[in-house]
Amino acid sequence: MLNVSNLSASYGAIRAVKGISLKVGQGSLCVVLGSNGAGKSTTLRSIAGLHRPVEGSITLQDREISRLKIHQVVRHGLALVPEGRMVVAPLTVEENLDLSGFAGRGSDRSDRERVYELFPRLKERRQQKAGLLSGGEQQMLAIGRALMTQPQVLVLDEPSMGLAPSIVDLVFDAIVALHKQGQSILLVEQNAAIALSVCDYGYVMRRGEIVVEGTAEMLRESPEVMKAYLS
Ligand code: ATP
Repeated sequence: MLNVSNLSASYGAIRAVKGISLKVGQGSLCVVLGSNGAGKSTTLRSIAGLHRPVEGSITLQDREISRLKIHQVVRHGLALVPEGRMVVAPLTVEENLDLSGFAGRGSDRSDRERVYELFPRLKERRQQKAGLLSGGEQQMLAIGRALMTQPQVLVLDEPSMGLAPSIVDLVFDAIVALHKQGQSILLVEQNAAIALSVCDYGYVMRRGEIVVEGTAEMLRESPEVMKAYLS
């Protein structure tokens, strides 16, 4: 499904991502772990068309997407839920969803209903301005917006960031529900415990490189995983 091969990305002279390769198979939930500055967000931004990689190939369903602009990447079926959520504050929940639907591949009412089924709180607050939602509700809206584009691969950057533990659980319950529905997902997380409790396969990044990869079970038992978090 999504295939990243030998991807490198820089900010001027700083090489943030150094030749990494990863895959997200059809219907699988993959996670990228790593400490601050490991290069996780840069990897996702490069995959989503927000940052032009220096080298490497990114294919979605065998189509090269690494040179496309972000709206083209969305139309090809990849949606990013960015770090910090980025909802449109003056618009209502429903307007945020519909706006995103336009950018995607032709959403309809059933897409909105699917989002409301996943997050009943958004349905209750559908006429509320997004800027007035709590942090957790904004995260739900950010995920809902990405779903409105009918993504083949849903990419999430640190969905637990800044949320209370009970809200993190709600957000991860939704991620697990989507996975069960067959949604392919790539997730970046600093919270290794929660990420490894839900994913099928994981990659650990350190200083721009993937230092360990394996099934969730292998990573949970790996001393290397702990080590990777110390740098
Ligand atoms: P975090 O969890 O803190 O977001 P991360 O693993 O997502 O970390 P990145 O944000 O990808 O890491 O950063 C990787 C490296 O690139 C870091 O050394 C960071 O300082 C650098 N970097 C990130 N964004 C920029 C930027 N806009 N300009 C210059 N350097 C940057």
